[in-house]
Amino acid sequence: MKHLPPPPGAGNGIILRQCRKPGWGGRQALWLAAAANYHRFSGNPWRVRPAGFTGADVDALYALYDSRGGSGPIARIRRPAIPFDSCPMCGSLGGRSLDHALPRGVYPEFSILHENLVPACTMCNSDEKGGVYRGRRPERFIHPYYDRWASRSLWRVEFGPDLDALQFRPVALPTLSRARRRIVDFHVQTLLGKEWRDSVRREWGPLPAKLRRRVGAAPSEAALRIELETRLQDAIDCNGVNCWDAGLLRGVLADPSVVTKLVERVRALPA
Ligand SMILES: [Zn+2]
Repeated sequence: MKHLPPPPGAGNGIILRQCRKPGWGGRQALWLAAAANYHRFSGNPWRVRPAGFTGADVDALYALYDSRGGSGPIARIRRPAIPFDSCPMCGSLGGRSLDHALPRGVYPEFSILHENLVPACTMCNSDEKGGVYRGRRPERFIHPYYDRWASRSLWRVEFGPDLDALQFRPVALPTLSRARRRIVDFHVQTLLGKEWRDSVRREWGPLPAKLRRRVGAAPSEAALRIELETRLQDAIDCNGVNCWDAGLLRGVLADPSVVTKLVERVRALPA
């Protein structure tokens, strides 16, 4: 979850080059109009309509990504020279892949449009979201190239009341506008799946022991809070403002009952 500059090779060049190849020229006008629509509506799936290609055109456009995704400019979007600090889509530290912001199964005309190809981790580009690309209007995914506001902190963990059972979910920050909260809630609640839940549990378990090494065996809530804030800042500096650790620590700090629980757990640790 972050804003990214336009990818290298953005623009109509890729369409014009493809349409100079034998048998492709007849698709150019409709294809360019579709790309213009994509830019005009910032890749918003509620506003960009499928171009309406049919028959063999659909298959040819869809397949372009398979033949061109492995090397050249598209591979450079997937593996930039300077790696991202965390997944631009979900905030994980997972491996580097590429995701179609608008799926090529619905929009084959954007199969290789660079603006539609977003660097993402392998989890984002796999089963977790399946064919989902929007929810109930106006829910959609954040688009890293168009949503400039995605550079700010966007989300946190929200804990359920029974902290021993440890129920939690990702939620948008209440400081966002209502419209953006809908988008961020949809984004995090769709993309952050089992891998993310496992990671929260892995962090939560040893957290008291880690905190005790910094603040002692009988910390005050104020001392614990200062340590958590330092950890949050470290996570942001290392992995970005919307990385998984930052979302978890923001969630802990936002809920006084969670801080109290952590103090209890630190104090209850065996000496
Ligand atoms: Zn991801």
